[in-house]
Amino acid sequence: MIVLLLGPPGVGKGTQSDNITHEFNINKISTGDILRDAVKNETEVGLEAKQYMVSGELVPDSIILKIIDVRMKDPDCSNGFILDGFPRTIPQAEGLDSILEKAELKIDKVLCLKADEENIINRMTSRRVCKTCGKVYNTISLPPAKDGICDNDDTKLIQRTDDKEETIRNRFDVYRKQTEPLINYYKNKNLLFEVDSNGSIDEIKNNIFNLLRG
Ligand code: AMP
Repeated sequence: MIVLLLGPPGVGKGTQSDNITHEFNINKISTGDILRDAVKNETEVGLEAKQYMVSGELVPDSIILKIIDVRMKDPDCSNGFILDGFPRTIPQAEGLDSILEKAELKIDKVLCLKADEENIINRMTSRRVCKTCGKVYNTISLPPAKDGICDNDDTKLIQRTDDKEETIRNRFDVYRKQTEPLINYYKNKNLLFEVDSNGSIDEIKNNIFNLLRG
């Protein structure tokens, strides 16, 4: 089974793709995770990608398509895979079509997660992290005991650059301009299923499972 997950930043694609992976025994390919690893390991791709990622811009299509072409052929993807955060542009979607055609594979379903934009932005800008131990907090849903201070080691909590409101609003703009056109691209191919993602994680998960079993 080959499934694509579309949706704006912070809508829960990562969480739901993990759920799908476990339930349907397929692998997850997240271009965001692959790029973050590359940045951490300071590879050639990582050094180039970093400059786009810090400001919420998209990494060039040519780099992304190369990553996908290689990763899809790994043996652990032979049972199928879910693509999380890819494609994000029409050229990426066309590139994927030609990679899949060469491999004689087909997309089964494209799920588009939809949620209220201001709710997502509130949740994302409330995230704080401890630089020392890495613990993640949320000033609304998971605050530390002492305002702005890590429970584990008393370090002052920070907001990551990519969680700042300006960066997040930019990521939404990028999504609207470059990624939203994919909704029609896949509607025209009769592959698109919209999933209301304003509910609880479990509700969304059950809706997705029913869609994928249907
Ligand atoms: P994500 O975790 O999927 O939101 O990705 C984090 C960042 O990685 C994005 O803001 C982009 O800079 C970059 N990125 C991830 N996937 C792609 C993609 N398919 N095309 C271009 N850039 C991407």
